[in-house]
Amino acid sequence: MTATWRLRPSNFQHEKTGMNITSSITDGNQNPFDLDAFSQGLYIDGQWRASTSGNSISVVDPSTETTLTSVADATVEDALLSVEAAARAAPSWRDTAPRKRSEILRRCFELMIERSDMLATLISKENGKALRDARGEVAYAAEFFRWNAEEAVRISGEFGMAPAGTNRIIVDYQPIGICVLITPWNFPAAMATRKIAPALAAGCTVILKPASETPLTAYALAAIYAEAGVPAGVVNVLTTTNPGPVTAAMLADPRVRKLSFTGSTGVGRTLLAEAAQNVISCSMELGGNAPFVVFDDADLENALDGAMVAKMRNAGEACTAANRLYVQSGIHDAFVEGLAKRMSALVVGPGADHATECGPMITRKAVEKIDRLVTDAKDRGAAVICGGVALQEKGFFYPPTVLTGVPPDAKMAHEEIFGPVAPIYRFHTEEEAISRANETEYGLAAYVFSRDLSRAMRVAGKIEAGMIAINRGLVSDPAAPFGGVKQSGLGREGGQHHGISEFMEAKYIAASF
Ligand code: NAP
Repeated sequence: MTATWRLRPSNFQHEKTGMNITSSITDGNQNPFDLDAFSQGLYIDGQWRASTSGNSISVVDPSTETTLTSVADATVEDALLSVEAAARAAPSWRDTAPRKRSEILRRCFELMIERSDMLATLISKENGKALRDARGEVAYAAEFFRWNAEEAVRISGEFGMAPAGTNRIIVDYQPIGICVLITPWNFPAAMATRKIAPALAAGCTVILKPASETPLTAYALAAIYAEAGVPAGVVNVLTTTNPGPVTAAMLADPRVRKLSFTGSTGVGRTLLAEAAQNVISCSMELGGNAPFVVFDDADLENALDGAMVAKMRNAGEACTAANRLYVQSGIHDAFVEGLAKRMSALVVGPGADHATECGPMITRKAVEKIDRLVTDAKDRGAAVICGGVALQEKGFFYPPTVLTGVPPDAKMAHEEIFGPVAPIYRFHTEEEAISRANETEYGLAAYVFSRDLSRAMRVAGKIEAGMIAINRGLVSDPAAPFGGVKQSGLGREGGQHHGISEFMEAKYIAASF
């Protein structure tokens, strides 16, 4: 089968107004907004400040390879100023009544929803993701504020008699202290709010270091937090080209008590070692290599719908993305045909183009990595059903690709593809599916499709992953604990108490009276 992907014309003429949106960005209501408004400096202690280095970081549009604007490049000195600001703001934020904190968080949610068109356009421009994905991200990101506004007033402790009958055991949950939050580029809004909202609900103050590729969303959100009533110093945001030394300096400051990181397993390991020096509490949301298992008795159309979501949300640039599709032999050929048809029909193009279904990758380097993995699989005997060759257009595009016959030793079976490539592996028995699904050091998400619920539950119980979706392609939900096992991470974000507890510490009081 030949791929029929379509690259949208990249002249960025707005469909209705004909406005050239590379120079003038419009939100979903066609109101123009100025990108430079989101690059006024570092956000420290409620102020927009230039970096002490005077240097800046260019923000590139992955759809066109043009520079959108630039942001300040923070130094170690700026980072320590942020810690100082967070430390000054900490006592009063910790003592702010939970109801008041809750109302501020609720206002953050409302403002994000009010501004969702603007935020989605901004995400789409700096990250490249399709507008529909960006809108989905804004709704998901805002939900962390609504959810944690509700959590903020439900923090409770424990009270009981010691088994010996000698005293009472009282357990109080207190904010852990100053938190350093580090986030990746693939969900510029949601990865930040998934940390900031529970941290603030718990009574902590934070310093956010967003990815240098996608800083504008983080700064746009900082302005929203201020408008919602978050006091100066409670949230500080800094961007840097020097993440190693800047983070190391913050982690070396004894006032910092929490590191919450989302990113690659490699960087996560380095940060765990650094955090160990001051015995800092760590939450780690790291890489994934999700298996997507389809049994013969699955509903084919539902499995295909699920595969499109699990693989193509964010053009495959998601930690939960289906990285290995295991399909049982009886349904294998029909699944391959159906998936190739759907993948080939996707409209590839600039993220901010309303018709786009699959935007560009984040960088040229990301395209090269995907290309290397696909070439390696082809060299080892995989067949290309559609796509399979990097696009030579301006912008970092890779076409939706389906591969079959990928051997188990192919590099893509062990590494995150992080792109729109679906390798399909044939399997025969349930035991084989489970053992192949577990052949990875990662354990973030997994997907199981079967009409036999007892089989689906049995397999879900045996797959080593922090999150399993049965007969659906999406797991993320602010109301559920998100996180991985094995080298996919430590701790959970979201959920009824999991996310907020990462930002609190238990204080036990033995009381005789
Ligand atoms: P990354 O290279 O690990 O970068 C993530 C963040 O860490 C960025 O802000 C980056 O800053 C910063 N960073 C890099 N080196 C650092 C250092 N030495 N010290 C401190 N900070 C450092 O990951 P990525 O490529 O941006 O993101 C993709 C990865 O994130 C994938 O592996 C994906 O699976 C994972 N991810 C996991 C989850 C989850 O919830 N489990 C969610 C989303 C993504 P710069 O941008 O300046 O380099």
